[in-house]
Amino acid sequence: MSAKDYYEKDFYKELGVTKTSSSAEIKKAYRKLARDLHPDKNPGNKLAEDKFKAVSEAYDVLSDDAKRKEYDEARSLMGTGAFRGFPGGGAPGGGAGAGTAGFDINDIFRQAGAGGAGGGAGGFGDLFGGLFNRSTAGGTRQQQPRAQRGADLETEVRIGFADAVTGVTVPLGITERTTCPTCHGIGAKPGTSPRECPVCKGTGLTTRNQGSFAFSEPCSNCHGTGSVIDDPCPTCHGERTVVHNRRLTTRIPAGVSDGQRIKLAGKGEPGPGGGPAGDLYVVVHVSGHELFGRSGDNLTLTVPVTFPELALGTTLTVPTLKSAVSLRVPPGTTNGRKFRVKGAGVQRKDIVGDLIVTVEVAVPQRLTAKAEEALEAFAKAQPADPREAITRALQARNGAPSAAGSS
Ligand SMILES: [Zn+2]
Ligand SMILES: [Zn+2]
Repeated sequence: MSAKDYYEKDFYKELGVTKTSSSAEIKKAYRKLARDLHPDKNPGNKLAEDKFKAVSEAYDVLSDDAKRKEYDEARSLMGTGAFRGFPGGGAPGGGAGAGTAGFDINDIFRQAGAGGAGGGAGGFGDLFGGLFNRSTAGGTRQQQPRAQRGADLETEVRIGFADAVTGVTVPLGITERTTCPTCHGIGAKPGTSPRECPVCKGTGLTTRNQGSFAFSEPCSNCHGTGSVIDDPCPTCHGERTVVHNRRLTTRIPAGVSDGQRIKLAGKGEPGPGGGPAGDLYVVVHVSGHELFGRSGDNLTLTVPVTFPELALGTTLTVPTLKSAVSLRVPPGTTNGRKFRVKGAGVQRKDIVGDLIVTVEVAVPQRLTAKAEEALEAFAKAQPADPREAITRALQARNGAPSAAGSS
């Protein structure tokens, strides 16, 4: 199979996964398909056998992070036509003019295979080297960590209610894996080199015969890396990476809500081999407040009042997050009415939230004898029926209301 065929195949589709699927999802999808399509289960079924081979091939690439990355990159380049600038003359547009019209992708693969004869083809050596030169490379080839994007990291931070409203700078502690400083990611003791895995001859793959055909799987001797380390690096014990604790501070913007995920671009793990760093996601937990609630950029506050205060009107002293304000409650205010204290909410660059105050009658659970007397006197003195509309509706229905309620 040529390189072109290789990259034109949609391995994701083959496995029924997407480009963003995690390696766990890919593994799961593969296992299910491999089980269903296994030749033992489908004797004599040519279609299942072909599909099984295709699925194995797809998994072979997608289960290996490095291969998957190369595959993705090559496919995205093929899609955008970004190949055009590369071959021929080094600098884009420099003498490659003839190639741009009748563009044949196979030319590029030929150039890449020729070992950078065109001068500008060096990039392709990196891009395709892993997939197509792995088996043909000399055994003494030093394993260099390839430039890859660093992993994304996630951390959590808890901040106070008021800090979420105003914004706050917080320290973050990150635990990450970085390239081992002793062996620079080689994994071998300084002065020694990894050698080619004798089982897979450096390909990282072994071939297993299954029924009438063979398929590849990661080499168990070298765990698919293609090389074995006799003298492991004393710092990382051959792991190539070390755990590293990093501290940084970041500004949590005003108005962050509980559970919000903030992306800090480029603050994730450093890229192995000098690649770009991943992103850091900070999940912010916001503590509750004993008085205030939040509704987007507004703060909310419920203020208990007495019935006389609503009926007669009053002036309330209402706390804001930072100070207090006077709130005029006019006579005859309805229970549950909301008042807006402008600008006392979340203060962002462009948006300023308000404080929404809800007045709510607190009904006394116990009355003094004097209060009870006064309330009864009030009821007599104020005979207006608050249920007038309901009473009228009931009377409009012919006949007496049925005896409901107490039974
Ligand atoms: Zn090391
Ligand atoms: Zn091996």
